[in-house]
Amino acid sequence: MSKVKAFGAQSSDANLEELNIERREITAEDVKIEIDYCGVCHSDIHQVRNDWKNSKYPVVPGHEIIGRVTQVGKNVSNFKEGDLVGVGCMVDSCQECDSCKEDLEQFCENGATLTYNSKDKHLGGHTFGGYAEQIVVDKEFVLKIPENIDAKATAPLLCAGITTYSPLRHWNVKKGDKVGVIGLGGLGHMGVKFAHALGAHVVMITTSPSKSEDAKKLGADEVLISKNEEDMKKQAGSFDFLLNTVPVGHDMNPYIALLKRDATMVLVGAIEPLDPVHGGGLIGGRKRIAGSVIGGIKETQEMLDFCGEHNIVSDIEMIDMQNINEAFDRIVKSDVKYRFVIDMKSLKN
Ligand code: NAP
Ligand code: ZN
Repeated sequence: MSKVKAFGAQSSDANLEELNIERREITAEDVKIEIDYCGVCHSDIHQVRNDWKNSKYPVVPGHEIIGRVTQVGKNVSNFKEGDLVGVGCMVDSCQECDSCKEDLEQFCENGATLTYNSKDKHLGGHTFGGYAEQIVVDKEFVLKIPENIDAKATAPLLCAGITTYSPLRHWNVKKGDKVGVIGLGGLGHMGVKFAHALGAHVVMITTSPSKSEDAKKLGADEVLISKNEEDMKKQAGSFDFLLNTVPVGHDMNPYIALLKRDATMVLVGAIEPLDPVHGGGLIGGRKRIAGSVIGGIKETQEMLDFCGEHNIVSDIEMIDMQNINEAFDRIVKSDVKYRFVIDMKSLKN
């Protein structure tokens, strides 16, 4: 085992602070990574603040990890020292159940091991994420990062990217579809970029009029302010697909009204109780509400390759590790353009 510097929270109301964690010695199947960058996902805040009531402390968050390989186990042939790699939300799964065999490890029937706050099969206790100097990960959960795009801006692809790419692909969003992306934060801004790249007519649905200009730069054809009831009415029944990234429980009825007959709204944001849905809104148009969580490893690699080919990266604000608590507060206030990425060099100071 080796001791590694990290940043974590000791309780749900504590700030994140520097601490030491253990990383395992590499096994024959493992890849050791020196972390250069780590994105800051709203899930990191939910976990630190115990919003989902399952946090284990200390929480060392971080599941948008980019770094260089420093060592590989003897059975690792697809990675070598110096490779630019990524690690997302999962670091292991059973590899045997139907979901794993179908490359859908995120639905592993025996429970995928999440990058942080999951049972650690090797060391006992729980896993620690990417707000750290290094990480050791099974080779099956390490991703290749295209070298032609800005490495620090690829970090958010590992969670925000795949979480929006996967449902757009699964629900077969295609050229000419009218797609609404609800919430312009880390996930939402990637949803806009991907929907645009797939040829959809993209409408950014936001509570923040001040983000309108940015939304258009990101690839939105239109902006719809969700608080404006008149404008919402004008677009009723017109959307082929909605991607809802709102991070908290909310009233979905106004969004359901936007869907066409037979169309689907996919929830990726609120992993908590939602306000009651009026059955009439669904029954009237044979509409659907569905959910989606990240994506499998194969699809994550496909998304990264797609980003390499289409030159897609995230819009980021770089921060030092020491400024993480302020960054959390700004994310909660919807004040981030559009993902914070931690420069992990700052942890070495
Ligand atoms: P984020 O950067 O905070 O963005 C969320 C955006 O939602 C905000 O910028 C804001 O955009 C909008 N919003 C916030 N509060 C709202 C409210 N009360 N009503 C309506 N809109 C509101 O968060 P994120 O990192 O994108 O993550 C979004 C959610 O997805 C989080 O809950 C996170 O835990 C979850 N998540 C899920 C998965 C998955 O696999 N399903 C993966 C990653 C994250 P506007 O200012 O434009 O309104
Ligand atoms: Zn995330």
